[in-house]
Amino acid sequence: MDGRRVASGVRERVAAGVADLVSRGITPGLSVVLVGDDPASAAYVRSKAKCSQEMGMAGDTIRLPATTTQADLVKVVQQLNADPGVHGILVQMPLPKQIDADVVVRLIDPAKDVDGFHPVNVGKLLIGERDGFVPCTPAGVMMLLREYKVQTSGAHCVVIGRSNIVGKPMAALLVQPGVDATVTVCHSRTRDIAAHTRTADIVVAAAGRAGLVTGDMLRPGAVVVDVGMNRVDDAASPKGYRLVGDVDFESAREVASLITPVPGGVGPMTIAMLMQNTLVAAQRSAEQRGA
Ligand code: NAP
Repeated sequence: MDGRRVASGVRERVAAGVADLVSRGITPGLSVVLVGDDPASAAYVRSKAKCSQEMGMAGDTIRLPATTTQADLVKVVQQLNADPGVHGILVQMPLPKQIDADVVVRLIDPAKDVDGFHPVNVGKLLIGERDGFVPCTPAGVMMLLREYKVQTSGAHCVVIGRSNIVGKPMAALLVQPGVDATVTVCHSRTRDIAAHTRTADIVVAAAGRAGLVTGDMLRPGAVVVDVGMNRVDDAASPKGYRLVGDVDFESAREVASLITPVPGGVGPMTIAMLMQNTLVAAQRSAEQRGA
């Protein structure tokens, strides 16, 4: 499954939506807050900011030092909540130790929570209300499955990973009426993961463990979505490492009917869905203001 191709379609549609709003005097704005200088977080933030600019959105990246206090970050988020030009707020995780991420997530206005991590949005996802925001990675996986016309109704889906960012919302989406999958969630305490994956029509791997899923763990014809992004040492690469997923691509592709590569699978979808969420936030805000 080609995430780059599907994501580019999403981005085209988002850019058209942005242009429409701009013509009505509203420029969707995404503000990204980066605390500290973790290189991986800085790279994610750069690509999010670049993509939002390409979409024609406004917005900025607020870079705060690693020594930022919780009170300072709270003030920044409150200012963004109050700013009518800001439609989406994203605080890049992880945050430094002195800051309680749960407090920050709960502080973001749910209507601007384009990451979909606020408990209000998590709750809406769980009860099937569609006016919240769905976390971008599982939303991107759902779009890939739809684009490739993967039959989910009655399918057995095995999700590996139970994080609040990927595994749990993924399972919640797959089990919703209309999607209608039968979902098994595996995690680090699961006994014999292979026994579950071998009965799966769809496997979504989101554990952050390179090579966790191998071809012999898959049923022939299974659909495999690899969310994992793991750095493995690679002396041949200029960076000294390369990115791999949780799935051993070479052995899995022999068995799977569809599989996402890493990179070029779920990653581009995540950022495209962030853009879509930001557009939707701006459209809702425009509707409320009668624009
Ligand atoms: P996380 O918070 O570390 O959660 C990992 C989950 O996997 C946990 O539930 C953990 O179980 C489970 N797990 C760990 N090792 C396992 C094993 N050997 N067998 C079975 N389950 C295992 O990670 P995350 O934020 O969900 O991210 C997961 C992966 O996806 C990472 O590689 C991350 O980089 C990647 N990711 C990619 C994107 C993208 O856009 N492509 C976006 C987000 C995340 P316990 O709960 O029992 O500890």
